[in-house]
Amino acid sequence: MHLPRSGALAPSSRSGPLRISVLGATGSIGTSTLDLIGREPDRFDVVALTAQSNTAALAEAAVRVGAAVAVIGDETAYGELAERLAGTGVAAAAGPDAIVEAAARPADLVVSAIVGAAGLAPSLAALGAAEAVALANKETLVSAGTLFMTEAVRRGVRVLPVDSEHNAIFQVLDAENIREVAEIILTASGGPFRTLSLAEMAGVTPERALKHPNWSMGRKISIDSATLMNKGLELIEAHHLFPVRPDQLSVVVHPQSAVHGLVRYTDGSLLAELGSADMRTPIAHCLAWPERRPAPVAPLDLVALGTLTFEAPDRARFPCLALAEAALAEGRGAPCVLNAANEIAVEAFLDGRIRFLDIAAVVADTLSRARGAGMMAEPASLVDAESLDASGRRLAAAEVARRMQ
Ligand code: NAD
Ligand code: MG
Repeated sequence: MHLPRSGALAPSSRSGPLRISVLGATGSIGTSTLDLIGREPDRFDVVALTAQSNTAALAEAAVRVGAAVAVIGDETAYGELAERLAGTGVAAAAGPDAIVEAAARPADLVVSAIVGAAGLAPSLAALGAAEAVALANKETLVSAGTLFMTEAVRRGVRVLPVDSEHNAIFQVLDAENIREVAEIILTASGGPFRTLSLAEMAGVTPERALKHPNWSMGRKISIDSATLMNKGLELIEAHHLFPVRPDQLSVVVHPQSAVHGLVRYTDGSLLAELGSADMRTPIAHCLAWPERRPAPVAPLDLVALGTLTFEAPDRARFPCLALAEAALAEGRGAPCVLNAANEIAVEAFLDGRIRFLDIAAVVADTLSRARGAGMMAEPASLVDAESLDASGRRLAAAEVARRMQ
């Protein structure tokens, strides 16, 4: 349970600009974050930026925002990064350990926007020396949510949700009356295949699956949105962020993506946050919290929108949602294995090695095998979580290979 507390990031408690690091700085969330930072350079003092392989984009961003250090995950790219940064005043480093070290540099806010379970070690490291972590990397909470949140509470580090649904809920959650929360509702756009039959989904290409109707996002989360696994991962994420039972969390499909999240109270009030489908709103909310600052986002035009619609998700056509719900109910190591299997399956689909509907099948079969092998213990440490993640990946890779034969 991690409730919003007031004060720690208030201007009175710090002097000067906000010291900020951005992990995954070249991605969709990372570039939106840097866009906001670049519009108010005096408000920020950029400590570290990290990326996996795009040295040109990383170096350009690091010089633009005046970062102290830029770190590239791919060790072989060190020379290229160092060359690009020579004489700029930005230090260069490379390798996964250097990303973890950068994450652990003292900062007021670390934005964790690496994709996948690769973000777990850096996100945990950020809890060591940051005042607050703005968490976009939902896979951290899915793979090791109990571990991460326990550590955040122990160290007194605030976790601010970047994910639009969770940020919406964070905004409308009444921490003073938390016992009167009856239900937390996540909205789902339904993705590009909302109205397709299973037979139609069988043949969809990665290109088609990557075309999200409302949001512009990284490749992995775009596929997760097409399978509705993203919403399943978000239920698990919400379970760790907000103090409610799994049966108090639900999903409603809302194709306009105007309402991002809702909280129902026992008195019948249903509070929602609405806005344009632009991640710069939740990111700006995290960067300014507990204040608010202007963001360069088109205001939501209710009259132009005209109609908001809601429908129940179809778990028969989107089995990934049901698989994630079952993993949430099962708890312990199940969400970690679910996430590992999904990452392997999505990568295989994007590479053209399996078909769209195989993603859910690979995840389901991996979970059954992991259960059979007695692998579902709750990860109690980073080593445990990484080892369970690796085992899940191995089982899933075998499932992918079996389907390619
Ligand atoms: P992306 O693919 O656009 O960017 C990922 C970033 O992580 C890049 O900077 C990349 O260099 C870095 N990265 C990739 N693999 C890495 C590795 N092994 N080690 C270190 N760094 C690595 O992804 P994104 O869409 O920006 O999503 C980032 C996270 O935010 C994901 O967890 C996603 O679920 C979450 N999220 C994204 C959105 C969105 O609109 N894009 C919305 C909500 C939540
Ligand atoms: Mg989301």
